[in-house]
Amino acid sequence: MRIGLDIDGVLLDTMKAYIKIYNHNYDEKRKVSDITDFHFGYILGLEDKEMYEIFEEINIKRIDLVDNSIPTIIDKWKSKGYTVDLITATSSKTIIKKYQRLKYLGVNFDNVHRVDGLKGEYAELYDLIIDDSPDQLDDILLHGGRAICYDQPWNRKWEGERIYSFSQLGGLWRWKNKQRKNLMKLVII
Ligand SMILES: [Mg+2]
Repeated sequence: MRIGLDIDGVLLDTMKAYIKIYNHNYDEKRKVSDITDFHFGYILGLEDKEMYEIFEEINIKRIDLVDNSIPTIIDKWKSKGYTVDLITATSSKTIIKKYQRLKYLGVNFDNVHRVDGLKGEYAELYDLIIDDSPDQLDDILLHGGRAICYDQPWNRKWEGERIYSFSQLGGLWRWKNKQRKNLMKLVII
């Protein structure tokens, strides 16, 4: 079994760190739950430049995991011999820091792939890819892959397979031989 995981919004809670800086800089009291669109600049009233400037301010060493059960679940997968790779569109400037942060937080993975843009080229190389971006999920499906949406406020309109926490994936290996249509019903362990 080969599993591809996105970093931001799936493993690292980058949006929490982002909103904290935004609230501080703009004297606002926004919440992550306010971010109901992946292209969220307009929600916060930010121009593209201002939006990216906040990303620059994030201290990656302080970003938390989206879900504290992630290291344990991934270790279970690894003990079954699964390959767990990261597939990210993060900038080449931040990728090493995010890699180091994940290792520090106890997340074990095999390889890291960085893309400029969409991830469809990896779709068929993995049994499943978990992502939080509707555009990425669509592109993975378009290229014949199995896309699983990690539930976030900005992807609620996306229709397809969805998980709400990593603990839902604890028994992932049990899905392996099931028909694809049955996989729409997630096994909650
Ligand atoms: Mg993401």
